[in-house]
Amino acid sequence: MSAPSDATATVPTEEEFAEQAEAFLSANTRLKAERKSVFGEGPDEIAVLPERTTEEDAREVAEAKRWARVVFDAGFGWITGPLRYGGRGLPGSFQRLYSSIEARFEIPSQAPRMIGLGMIAPTILAHGTEVAKKRYLRSLWRGDIIACQLFSEPGAGSDLASLQTRAVRDGDEWIVNGQKVWTSGAHYSDIGEIICRTDPDLPKHKGLTGFVVDMHAPGVEVRPLRQMTGGASFNEVFFSDVRIPADHLLGDVNGGWTVALTTLMNERAAIGGGGGSAAGSGALQRLIDLARHLGASSDPLIRQELADTWINVQVAGYNNERALAKIRAGQLPGPELSVAKLSLTENMRRMAELASHILGVRITADSGEWGTYAWSQFLLGVPGMRLAGGTDEVMRNILGERVLGLPKEPSPK
Ligand SMILES: Cc1cc2nc3c(=O)[nH]c(=O)nc-3n(C[C@H](O)[C@H](O)[C@H](O)COP(=O)(O)OP(=O)(O)OC[C@H]3O[C@@H](n4cnc5c(N)ncnc54)[C@H](O)[C@@H]3O)c2cc1C
Repeated sequence: MSAPSDATATVPTEEEFAEQAEAFLSANTRLKAERKSVFGEGPDEIAVLPERTTEEDAREVAEAKRWARVVFDAGFGWITGPLRYGGRGLPGSFQRLYSSIEARFEIPSQAPRMIGLGMIAPTILAHGTEVAKKRYLRSLWRGDIIACQLFSEPGAGSDLASLQTRAVRDGDEWIVNGQKVWTSGAHYSDIGEIICRTDPDLPKHKGLTGFVVDMHAPGVEVRPLRQMTGGASFNEVFFSDVRIPADHLLGDVNGGWTVALTTLMNERAAIGGGGGSAAGSGALQRLIDLARHLGASSDPLIRQELADTWINVQVAGYNNERALAKIRAGQLPGPELSVAKLSLTENMRRMAELASHILGVRITADSGEWGTYAWSQFLLGVPGMRLAGGTDEVMRNILGERVLGLPKEPSPK
């Protein structure tokens, strides 16, 4: 039997859909408890890059996958996806409706799936072969597999087009050799989107090609990197004669720059407009609670700084809404996402500075007092946020050149 076309999607009314979603969530999980933020209650963790043991990581991944399967099999996993690749073929308004209902329920963290769903799946959908779309899209959305982003290298970060990992064609396969670095979640990923140099004689942006690579293939070696927070959420990944089938190509041969840009646009949307802003405002409430608890909220300078940060977090939220509305309307996300990413990290930097100012020496050693030393994790994680997904300086260059129309920076090459 041939796969159904999108034209055959059964479209419920939004009321029917909302009722089905409520019924599904009520049967499979519970409503979130109405919780007012109270200092001293809840987990003593305020982390940007949570510090986890390997066992904790594995548990989080298993829970995320279990929940993804339950949701997918009930028809709420890939609501807007094309039917022929396993989606439900419904308009974006249904996804927003489901997300708003789901937000009222307790669900396991989906953090390990965010790169795969937010960045890699949209790239496979836009640029993958039929083979790759059929093999991976449904599995990613159902949580059967997890994907990572294999872009950065020791000599190529902001200047991604300088990357050196080579892919050479050999019959129906490509052979990959090289090294990637800072690959978040590579240690639990099943596939990765890799950008390789396929023609070293072409100008650097033009000789690149994207592929989907099997992270369990012979010749792939993942080595965890310990970051200054103490955790190891990203890795070095080495490729030694790794074979990739030709039907795992993304886009055209030597058209990898376009493929990479698709992923990077989605990355900025995911970091700036999605979970990132929510993380920022959650930390801000904790900071306000901390200031009150330590009696610092009556200090006029701290009050002013807290109020300024609160205003900036609200403004960032509205700006993100504007950027996301543009995406929903089918327009290309543009510099708004650079603003979103930049304002998120700027707000986090202000919160980290204010927390250390309020805490003084308490930030330097764990005395066991709830909600104090826990801020050190936030403080040590913020610099990573200022680098990941395009550094603050690179975002400022984009805004200067594309929004303000300032002259381009002089390039050394
Ligand atoms: C938490 C985290 C997770 C990550 N996850 C992944 C991942 O999953 N996959 C992946 O591929 N990569 C990942 N990265 C890597 C990330 O994309 C790079 O760190 C980032 O692109 C910057 O590259 P770099 O570290 O090589 O720094 P560089 O590019 O070497 O930059 C060093 C400094 O120079 C500045 N600079 C560089 N160029 C310019 C310029 N033109 N103008 C002004 N200043 C400039 C930068 O702003 C920075 O301050 C992750 C990074 C972090 C921190």
